Amino acid sequence: MFREAYRKFLEAEITPNVERWRQQGIVDREAFEKAGEQGFLMIWPDEQYGGLGDKDFRFEQIIIEETQRAGCGEWFNTLHSRLVGPYLEHFGSDDQKQRWLPDCVSGKKVLAIAMTEPDAGSDLAGMRSSLNVEGDHYVLNGSKTYISNAINADLVIVAAKSDSEDHSHSMTLCVVERGMDGFERGRNLDKMGLKAQDTAELFFNNVVIPKENILGEPGRGFFYLMQGLAEERLIAMVMAAANARRGFNITREFAMERKVFGKPLSHMQNTQFKLAEMDAELDILQVYVDHCVSEHNEGRLTVNMAAKGKLQATELEWRMMDLGVQLHGGAGYMQEYAICSMFTDARINRILAGSSEIMKLIIGRDIFTDNYSSILD
Ligand SMILES: Cc1cc2nc3c(=O)[nH]c(=O)nc-3n(C[C@H](O)[C@H](O)[C@H](O)COP(=O)(O)OP(=O)(O)OC[C@H]3O[C@@H](n4cnc5c(N)ncnc54)[C@H](O)[C@@H]3O)c2cc1C
Repeated sequence: MFREAYRKFLEAEITPNVERWRQQGIVDREAFEKAGEQGFLMIWPDEQYGGLGDKDFRFEQIIIEETQRAGCGEWFNTLHSRLVGPYLEHFGSDDQKQRWLPDCVSGKKVLAIAMTEPDAGSDLAGMRSSLNVEGDHYVLNGSKTYISNAINADLVIVAAKSDSEDHSHSMTLCVVERGMDGFERGRNLDKMGLKAQDTAELFFNNVVIPKENILGEPGRGFFYLMQGLAEERLIAMVMAAANARRGFNITREFAMERKVFGKPLSHMQNTQFKLAEMDAELDILQVYVDHCVSEHNEGRLTVNMAAKGKLQATELEWRMMDLGVQLHGGAGYMQEYAICSMFTDARINRILAGSSEIMKLIIGRDIFTDNYSSILD
């Protein structure tokens, strides 16, 4: 029932706008409010904050799958709902939750998270932004780049270095609010794909951060981010698996319609073999993704499991998009065919939320330790 209701919501409120959002380079803010009104944004917060209080990740899985299925993935509602929002829940005080969560659930306030800097992406410990105590408040300086929802965001969770002996890992998370003095947004960046998503630089010049805007314990930010990354990678794998399946379906339909040398492309053994390999890989991937979702619901999703799923899902998604374009022929290079933008949109997924190389580092470093275990153990 939830899937059906969300599908109808997408058909009515989101799908008709996607092309216009691509042209303007940003999603209308109202999209978040409309989703909020109908209960599709941030489902998990307790009822006192306006949510349903249901933390079952399968609700978000349905939202991600249906958003991808409908070709609306550029409306990154899950970034708001399940990637950034949980930081407020897990590390926010009661006062902070009361202050921010209700407006995030209703979509009045849009969320973003800012970790990456021009010189620090994969290596977060190398960031230079600073957040230091001055009297009864903190002062934030530095800049961030490639931040999703950066233009639309009202609340940005910013990670910055704080004073400490262990300077490389001493990070603090703070919430920067729209309108704070010294907080500025750069231009909306011109990307290869995901044209409807606003991605921008953020600048912080002596921004006064009241102590009430510090999230969790000062200096623990790096560990908080590491905790959040397993769920971020789960989101990435659910998204990539659903999007790859959409690429498969679109390509399958095209191959049945398109005639080459007097018969449908689908009659060629190459088409059947290539799509057979994909079909098998996609089904097997989906079983692992569902397994990770249920492990996450039980609190058992490890960083290693999430890294394996993220690596496999995004690499397979990429191979599917490449095959899709190939089987479409020249049409696959034309924007009027969905597979064309799916190809460019998917390219970032092997880099975002930890690149494939970083996933291999995480998986690889466990293989030769006493902690090593496989799914059969
Ligand atoms: C569209 C888009 C949206 C984004 N949204 C956000 C956001 O909302 N918030 C945010 O904070 N960030 C965001 N990012 C940033 C993203 O998380 C980073 O781009 C990503 O973490 C990679 O960092 P980098 O770009 O600095 O690349 P680098 O870290 O410089 O990596 C360059 C290459 O080096 C490889 N590499 C790095 N370290 C190693 C290693 N130890 N061993 C082997 N190879 C290695 C990488 O895999 C990659 O191939 C976004 C980026 C894009 C493009």
